[in-house]
Amino acid sequence: MTSSPARPDRVISVAVPVPGLGLLSYLAPAGAALHKGARVRVPLGARSVVGCVTDTDGSAPADQELRTIGEVIDPEPFVPGDVVDLALWVGEYYASGPGAALALAMPPAARDGTRESFRTTRIYERVEGASISDGPAPTARQQNALDALAAQATGVSAGEAAKQGIGAAMMRTLVARGWVRARDEVVLRDPFDDRGEENAEGGRWSADVAAKPEPALTMEQADAYQRLEDAAAGHTFKTVLLHGVTGSGKTELYLRLARHIVSSERRVLVLVPEIGLTPSLAGQFRARFGDRVAIQHSALSDGERHDQWHRIRRGDIDVVVGTRSAVFAPLAGIGLVIVDEEHDGSYKQDEAPRYHGRDVAIVRARAHGALVVLGSATPSVESASNAKSGRYDLVRLTKRVLDRPLAAVRIVNMREEFAARGADIALSTPLIDAIRDRLSRAEQTMLLLNRRGYAVVVFCRQCGASLECPHCSVVLTYHKAQRRVRCHYCNYAAAVPRKCGACGGEYLEQAGIGTERLEADVRAQFPGARVRRVDRDTIRRKGSMTRVLREVARGDVDIVVGTQMIAKGHDFPAVTLVGVVGADVGLGLADFRAAERTFQLLTQVAGRAGRGEAAGEAIIQTLYPEHYAVRSAAAQDYDTFYQREMEFRTSMRYPPTVAMINVVVRSKTPEGAMADAHDLVKRTRHRHPHGHVIGPAPAALAKVNDEYRAQFFVKGQQRKPMRAALTAALDERPELKRRVTVDVDPLSVM
Ligand code: ADP
Ligand code: ZN
Repeated sequence: MTSSPARPDRVISVAVPVPGLGLLSYLAPAGAALHKGARVRVPLGARSVVGCVTDTDGSAPADQELRTIGEVIDPEPFVPGDVVDLALWVGEYYASGPGAALALAMPPAARDGTRESFRTTRIYERVEGASISDGPAPTARQQNALDALAAQATGVSAGEAAKQGIGAAMMRTLVARGWVRARDEVVLRDPFDDRGEENAEGGRWSADVAAKPEPALTMEQADAYQRLEDAAAGHTFKTVLLHGVTGSGKTELYLRLARHIVSSERRVLVLVPEIGLTPSLAGQFRARFGDRVAIQHSALSDGERHDQWHRIRRGDIDVVVGTRSAVFAPLAGIGLVIVDEEHDGSYKQDEAPRYHGRDVAIVRARAHGALVVLGSATPSVESASNAKSGRYDLVRLTKRVLDRPLAAVRIVNMREEFAARGADIALSTPLIDAIRDRLSRAEQTMLLLNRRGYAVVVFCRQCGASLECPHCSVVLTYHKAQRRVRCHYCNYAAAVPRKCGACGGEYLEQAGIGTERLEADVRAQFPGARVRRVDRDTIRRKGSMTRVLREVARGDVDIVVGTQMIAKGHDFPAVTLVGVVGADVGLGLADFRAAERTFQLLTQVAGRAGRGEAAGEAIIQTLYPEHYAVRSAAAQDYDTFYQREMEFRTSMRYPPTVAMINVVVRSKTPEGAMADAHDLVKRTRHRHPHGHVIGPAPAALAKVNDEYRAQFFVKGQQRKPMRAALTAALDERPELKRRVTVDVDPLSVM
């Protein structure tokens, strides 16, 4: 008979990559070497999954039946402990559970339990001192081959040897005789290497790696730099907002501060937005820091990402430059975190975990006692408000380097243009005149319009009904080149019907202007001009973006027409005119950040014109010439914009004056979505009686991909009770979890 003993085994906590699951407890044999951050195979229902150990001496209720772990994949921590903690924080804060967050912290293939998978190449080398007189004498051909190999001290690859006439069969013989040795050498897949695989953006990172000579700082830069260096001196956590107008030379400050940190043997993490900026900023770091810079970017090949991750993990790297998910890079001893263009929307992930890279970066820096520098010409309202309240230090750069003037900005009231020339025009008279002027001086023009396609809607002249997507509650866009209408949400496409589906009317008209139509209008207006369009329809294939950028840089293009894709991050010195064809796309939306986004886009655009020697001009066509977002962008007046925007956010109780969680419930029917949302609202209110739960209501996009969407918001001052109430409500209705999206600190509520 045995008395009931204490558990002989240890209880460990494991995060598994299953959405909605919290940490799971398992038994581990008492003697097993187990570390936090190691991967283990564990039973889950009838399956076996790879999870990550988050705690090695956990506890579980004594009456709980625990299963025993399977294979221990890593004998040492795989994900560093501080990154495990960071992922757990993300899982909790963004209410996504720990599994999805930990998956972000692993390189490709690691999630299914694969150990390192480096690419190797076989190298052959002459064995020194292996006497050829001992064995059978080599034929003359073998002797020649051995002489050739002896001349190459570091060995040759099979491919190189073949080129020198030493074939595979010959090599096998030489190896078998003991005269030649074969070994496998790791080939690092380096995203900076021109021979590597092309990334999805089509660019090689080396595109502009050419090292620029280090300029002497301007007085304003020098002051700012000194303040940043002082802030870093304490080796304690601190956040600085570096608010510098476009072209004020923020990058130079990043580079110098990074060098300062690296020289004191700490490491640097640099986050950049998703498109455009990575190659050039990464290239500049590479030029200054050599191969101790690693890149982490979702557009890298899996092989490149794998190799970069392991180089960082081994400590071979001082500086990591990457997009959002690089915040989880296995970098130790971080002394500085830079978040460039901190206001950029691409820092927020739009699937679970819906984390914000900037905010997670700040949490990571706190754990390392590091300095955070948030850089922007148009800081997010959140960061500016933190600077105002004193939570962040503020360092400002108000001048462009070399006193290059900011672009002159002109606002064109499109209501007047439409009244005078009809509502179907894309280009106003002032913009046409300005383009003609540029063409005559062989200068370049950039035209921005944030809508793809030819016409934005197709409608019936008889009954007014517009063509809608059968699967989503949005209108279909007409694409002329394909002669089809398309849905930009679910990609549904169809031929243009000949009759109206609602009334049978035979006159279907198009309205609204997309980039395809803008390009056609520009070509018709300026027959001799060389025009290029850049949007997701023309930039499909790998490399096409890089190609267009090169053509523009070489001066082979007069007018670039494009979506936001071209507005960000690219430096076009010869562009002296930027036209914003429709500045109102954002302002019409029922989204509390519409004005902020419009202000940011217009300010950045105005900052782009005239980056080179020639003075620049920006022309903004708008239906809302009096709107404060348009006016303050034209005046490059951040402070006025911020003040007006904060008045709006305060009166409407929007972030950052309150914390907010956006919840979307999806269902096959509109009634089902509303009923489930109602139920969750009731349960959430019950658990958080003093909180504000607003809704539910049909979402602004009421139907996407055949699913109906209802929406509600939780608002309050403290996220913790808000989140707890919501999570508890969902735990009572676990069957809803697959159909509910929880977005903490949403960027968009559409
Ligand atoms: P920002 O990021 O603030 O918009 P950049 O860092 O891109 O500005 O700087 C704009 C341009 O000025 C770049 O071409 C950069 O190389 C150059 N630059 C920066 N600092 C100096 C300086 N002190 N002297 C001369 N040129 C500089
Ligand atoms: Zn659709």
